[in-house]
Amino acid sequence: MRRPPPANDLGVTETNPPSQPRRYQRQMLLPEIGVEGQSRLARAHALIVGVGALGCTSADWLCRAGVGRITLVDRDVVEFTNLHRQTLFTESDARAGIPKAEAARRRLAEVNSEVRVGAVVCDVNSATLPRLRAMGSGGTPAEATGFDVIVDGTDNYETRYLLNDFAVREGIPYCYAGVVGVSGAAATVLPEKWATARAQSPTPCIRCLFPEMPAPGSMPTCDTAGVLGPMVGLVASWQSMEAIKVLSGAHERVHRVLARFEAWTGGVMLVDTSSARDPECVCCGRGRYEFLDRPAGDGVATLCGRNAVQVLPSASGAPLDLGALGERLRGVGSVETTAFLVRVRLDGERADVGEGVVLTVFPDARAIVSGVTNPDRARALYARMVGA
Ligand SMILES: [Zn+2]
Repeated sequence: MRRPPPANDLGVTETNPPSQPRRYQRQMLLPEIGVEGQSRLARAHALIVGVGALGCTSADWLCRAGVGRITLVDRDVVEFTNLHRQTLFTESDARAGIPKAEAARRRLAEVNSEVRVGAVVCDVNSATLPRLRAMGSGGTPAEATGFDVIVDGTDNYETRYLLNDFAVREGIPYCYAGVVGVSGAAATVLPEKWATARAQSPTPCIRCLFPEMPAPGSMPTCDTAGVLGPMVGLVASWQSMEAIKVLSGAHERVHRVLARFEAWTGGVMLVDTSSARDPECVCCGRGRYEFLDRPAGDGVATLCGRNAVQVLPSASGAPLDLGALGERLRGVGSVETTAFLVRVRLDGERADVGEGVVLTVFPDARAIVSGVTNPDRARALYARMVGA
């Protein structure tokens, strides 16, 4: 059933741009960017975690801006319900159930062929982040620069705190953003290690600003509140502007604020965070990386706004043989097998929400169970269909 893993164990697909004159980079006319800034952008590598609404808009801007290399990471597939806010995707992507990272990679390759865009379909957790890090510093010695910025396109606090830990420990600027309903917020973290090397002062990290995760159920989520498409565009544009400052060398221009936007009422609030750095902060003050050091474990996670549950098996062995799995599942419903996944609509299962239960299994044995909202039921279905 299992075969040996490929050389790259995260199964990345990547475009290699042709060497040709750079045609699109008219930003160098802007004195704020200039020739030097544009050339810095072309040498930079951005990691975009989560290719939902925020990630689509930010990836689009960074690709058009001529950021030399972009790595996109997302765990989910394109759905019709994404299309009102996730601007890189089309109905045909949703119909085919293409993984978001891969659909975005294909789209961006058409937007700017001079950018090297990589797609990784995986859950970002404390086990996969170090493997992503190895990817960032891969390639030829000249390319061994790692990530120059982390752009937050996630939809949950757990992953944000994890990225904050990673950014502070590794000394990589982190552009946080979040949107729910008609409200959004953004802030850029310049870690001490990064700032000191560039004669800048560090900013507070996310745990200086929000020391603890909000209690479950205490905050609105995109499940309970929905998301207004243009609101995400606004916040992601702010976020990508800050990333462009970081990458083009305009370090002193990075806003040291927590920006809050209220689209419906028109409120914009910039909270000065220049003195908000907490020397007692668990992460940037005391150097304890609680989210990064926590084992990933096996788990189920309810996916925000999706009526679906992700099942993440604990053992990360060799990739699944998707063809063989597809054949095995033929008896339980209509099966579709692609290079990226096996998708089966389960005939005999009644959905908790929506029109049916669909099981999507990826090569890393991770699965998304759509139409199911109960984590125990998702885990049980997974055990029956894929194996424990
Ligand atoms: Zn901190």
